Amino acid sequence: MNHLLRNALLMNTTTPVDISIVDGVLTAIDPAGKGTAPADATITDLEGRLVTPPLVEPHIHLDAVLTVGQPRANESGSLFEGIAVWGERVKSLTVDDVIERSREVMMWQIACGVQHVRSHADVCDPELRALNGLIAVREELKGIIDLQIVAFPQQGIYGFENGTGLMRQAMVEGADVVGGIPHFELTREDGVNSVQFVFDLAQEFDSMIDIHCDETDDDHARFVEVMAAETIKRGMTGKVTASHTTAMGSYNAAYAGRLITNIKRAGLNMITNPLDNSVLQGRFDIGPIRRGHTRVKELLKAGVNVAIGHDSVMDPWYPLGYGDPLQAAFMLAHYGHMSGATELPYLLEMISTNPAKALGVDSAGVRVGGPASLVVFDAPSAEDALRRISPRYLVMRDGEVLSRTAPAQTTLTINGTSRDVNFLRP
Ligand SMILES: [Zn+2]
Repeated sequence: MNHLLRNALLMNTTTPVDISIVDGVLTAIDPAGKGTAPADATITDLEGRLVTPPLVEPHIHLDAVLTVGQPRANESGSLFEGIAVWGERVKSLTVDDVIERSREVMMWQIACGVQHVRSHADVCDPELRALNGLIAVREELKGIIDLQIVAFPQQGIYGFENGTGLMRQAMVEGADVVGGIPHFELTREDGVNSVQFVFDLAQEFDSMIDIHCDETDDDHARFVEVMAAETIKRGMTGKVTASHTTAMGSYNAAYAGRLITNIKRAGLNMITNPLDNSVLQGRFDIGPIRRGHTRVKELLKAGVNVAIGHDSVMDPWYPLGYGDPLQAAFMLAHYGHMSGATELPYLLEMISTNPAKALGVDSAGVRVGGPASLVVFDAPSAEDALRRISPRYLVMRDGEVLSRTAPAQTTLTINGTSRDVNFLRP
């Protein structure tokens, strides 16, 4: 199918353009009104709507989605009660159960404009049911929404029976990325050893690394420094990601400064998960309650690649969400003090181009000669997309329309007079 998209507003520009698409490839970008329709093209007037590259979800737990309340509610809402509830829910897990829930949320992600996903799969299970369910969905949806699966030891590598064997088995059976959880291991030494085990396994399978690292308010959790050191010593720059790293928010400034220097030197990718961590951290504080998130602004200032993850969708840790990265970006605008004039549009980079870099997926952007994979927001600017968490008007991959959302219409009637309201500044 060929297309002409008229009056599209590209990121970081102010003048609309026309986009031509032939056989799945973006063939021309012309000033608005100057684009010529390719043969048999469908012509769509975007009326100045924002067009971005596909969104990329770098951190989600698809094996746990849609399990909130099962088999019991997380009454306190805390991380540790969440892990306990999940430990009970896991007993009734089946491969089909994982397939059905993860497939449903991936449909929601497609409608939100997401085309690449990295999901953790809990491998603390002798039968590896979560992994096998996600592998089935990965194969089913390949080319529509691409999935990377992380072998994730939710209960620890050394604190769980046959933890190292299950990690290796997960890689043999088809996990793409090696995960870890050093701050949850039984001792600090086990934590350090677990990071080294993860790096060894990744080198053995020539895979990338994505570790849940220092997801605690304990300022003595210091495993990111071990990750940076191993990355530097083994020459694995670009292949390693540290997720959560919330303890960084509690480190003293001298230590944090030295650490950020080494993170930059190692070329670590950093993923912050503002939705989950805004509700899970600070639970042991009485007041003032710490925000409990990583040092996003300092990392960005140092030139580190930082991306935003959604983390959970309706599971024992986070009962809300529908898989939209824009909700997580909206949260970070507040929780990370990223409301500055240039910071607001940059939040969209943190859910598209930055996570693409972390995952090692092609991020061609919206450019001539690239694939016609793009997202149209029902908004006239990045700021308005964030402000109203705008629906995705149109989602396209390789020239095929995957999703359309009709804009909501609100009509106000006051004293018998009606008018439409769209919450946009006139
Ligand atoms: Zn996580």
